[in-house]
Amino acid sequence: MVDYSFLLEELKRILKEKQLKFTRQRELVLKALFENEGHFSPEELHRLIQKKNPDTRVGIATIYRTLTLLEEEGLADSISFGKEGKRYEIGLKKHHDHLICTHCGKIIEFFDETIEKRQEEVARRFDFQMTDHAMKIIGICKECREREAGNQTNTQENH
Ligand SMILES: [Zn+2]
Ligand SMILES: [Zn+2]
Repeated sequence: MVDYSFLLEELKRILKEKQLKFTRQRELVLKALFENEGHFSPEELHRLIQKKNPDTRVGIATIYRTLTLLEEEGLADSISFGKEGKRYEIGLKKHHDHLICTHCGKIIEFFDETIEKRQEEVARRFDFQMTDHAMKIIGICKECREREAGNQTNTQENH
């Protein structure tokens, strides 16, 4: 795992390079991603930040802009949910892919050596220089399926 002081130095360096001011608000976005395990929408991060720092006003626009900057610079990663937007996690983690539940929104991380190798092979086959990949498995998690199976039985019993 990356340590926070490294990420913070990186953020300072990037902001300086872009001639943007280092602000507590911007730092809080990075910190929230670092401290909370998971994948968050900008709105969720906003809530987490305001809950933990009730005395600092952080505008949602700042959160969006900072996340975009962090992602451009590799300090954050995102998973795209089409028109529902993106969910962010801290960057520089060990590479992994995701299983996404469309019912409850749960995101499970996995790493599979064979999938990684196959993707490299596919890229080679098309003489394609791969710089990144995003592998998403979309579906319904075990808990949601069990809950829904339970609901069905209950409905039947009621009739
Ligand atoms: Zn689920
Ligand atoms: Zn992840």
